[in-house]
Amino acid sequence: MSVADAAPISRRAFLAGSAATGVVLLAGPADVRLAHGAVVRRYPFALGVASGDPLPHRVVLWTRLVRDPLDAGSMPRRPVAVEWELSRHPRFRGARRHGVVRALPRLAHSVHVDVGGLRPATDYWYRFRVGRHVSETGRTRTAPEHGASIQHLRLGVANCQDWQSGYWPAYTALADEDLDVVLHLGDYIYESDPASAYRDRLHTKPHRSGLNQLFTLADYRNRHALYKTDPALQAAHAAFPWVVTWDDHEVESNYANRVDADPHRPRRQGPVRFARERARAYQAYYEHMPIRVPYRVGSPNLRIYRRFDFGNLLRLNVLDTRQYRTPQPDGRGGGYGAEDAGRANTHGTLMGSGQERWLHAGLRSSPARWNVIAQQVMMSRLRFPTEPGQTQYVTNLDQWDGYAPARDRLLHFLASARVANPVVLAGDLHASCFSDVRLNFDDPTSQIVASEYLATSISSGFAPGDDAALKAANPTLNPHIRHFDGARRGYLRIDVNRQRVQVEQRSVDTIATRSSPVRTTAAFVTAAGSPGVVPA
Ligand code: FE
Ligand code: CA
Repeated sequence: MSVADAAPISRRAFLAGSAATGVVLLAGPADVRLAHGAVVRRYPFALGVASGDPLPHRVVLWTRLVRDPLDAGSMPRRPVAVEWELSRHPRFRGARRHGVVRALPRLAHSVHVDVGGLRPATDYWYRFRVGRHVSETGRTRTAPEHGASIQHLRLGVANCQDWQSGYWPAYTALADEDLDVVLHLGDYIYESDPASAYRDRLHTKPHRSGLNQLFTLADYRNRHALYKTDPALQAAHAAFPWVVTWDDHEVESNYANRVDADPHRPRRQGPVRFARERARAYQAYYEHMPIRVPYRVGSPNLRIYRRFDFGNLLRLNVLDTRQYRTPQPDGRGGGYGAEDAGRANTHGTLMGSGQERWLHAGLRSSPARWNVIAQQVMMSRLRFPTEPGQTQYVTNLDQWDGYAPARDRLLHFLASARVANPVVLAGDLHASCFSDVRLNFDDPTSQIVASEYLATSISSGFAPGDDAALKAANPTLNPHIRHFDGARRGYLRIDVNRQRVQVEQRSVDTIATRSSPVRTTAAFVTAAGSPGVVPA
């Protein structure tokens, strides 16, 4: 059965606010015994609620039932009836939508309710119930009607949230913004073993610790669940619909398709073994995200690249540059290597041919004023300062620099197809980096074909030495980079209208505490018809 099939199996009233209401037991298919509410004694919504993938008339609602959040095996091995409710009123007054879905043990009792029949560009509130337990209330917002001439859209962009690096005041601040949608560009979890300066920010122990790697399905589920216990992350999920994609650490560092990029034995696995690990990681990712994708239990692959339209103002192309990529050329461990290795990677691809065709088609046919390419790794060239004895520039071959011919192909396509106002979003670097995307980065006078806004991390670190070195070297080494800041953690707030996109780097003062002031530490604009990033 399709696990995305969340058709309501009851129309029975969900009595708002009445804790006395027992679980609604239903006449489902005869072979499915829904667990009685009594088997869920403890509050099962400790991982919060979320919504995502907003369309004009649909949105996905998510939760996952847990007993012990850090023990994926602690729930009863039976389906559990979960009621959902959705309303245009924050206290669920007036007309409501509701239904019951089954949370299945083989999907870790996660639920994905794809609610249809909604009004475009409208706020909704939602919650779940099992037995006497009622979840927190989440708020979501549908996308504008297809083709609607909308004037204004606000996005948040987050990525790279290493739990062990510190706390996430950035998410507390993000939850306080007024946004239509939040994008997450990957590194939602990290796979490393427990090691943290903060005693309450230690990773859970995987099945086989000592290898900086997760292996079993329970390992991945428990790590996702650990991250989801964070109240700031829960608040940000409950505040807005999210559109998520993954990068490498949701499986393991720098992997490429079925190639385990780990340079160290015994961590490095062959393709068959690694494919199994990847499948478990993908399953846990699906189980924990408010995402509308056709997942089948046991499938080795999961197509998550997809597209969203926000009226005729903005088309959002969400890429997956991990699952289909060819291995990094000459990458050693961290992926750093000679720039020339990336230039010579003529058969390399980050997207794979199917996704590349899909992206070109979506850009060519777009009705939108702004065409956003939301993806994981930095697209613009980033040369690192050479050290004594080095005769070649060093780049991060895990980024587009390792796949320069594929990047040339995309940039020439943007130019020749006259794609309207392309804006590239990226993460992974753990620094803010805003760039003019030039057709030829070696020629500082060549045509600017797009604008790249790379968001700093929520918490993952950037070496202070590298920050100082790049700040000093960028004007000569990477003159297309107009803003670079590796010292601050935070997110991007993007305000879009028909005339311009304005991007603010929102930075917290510290991640050593759960709360911190947040400030705008950089503001840039891209004017419609004039690609490139300019100080606001
Ligand atoms: Fe990261
Ligand atoms: Ca990454």
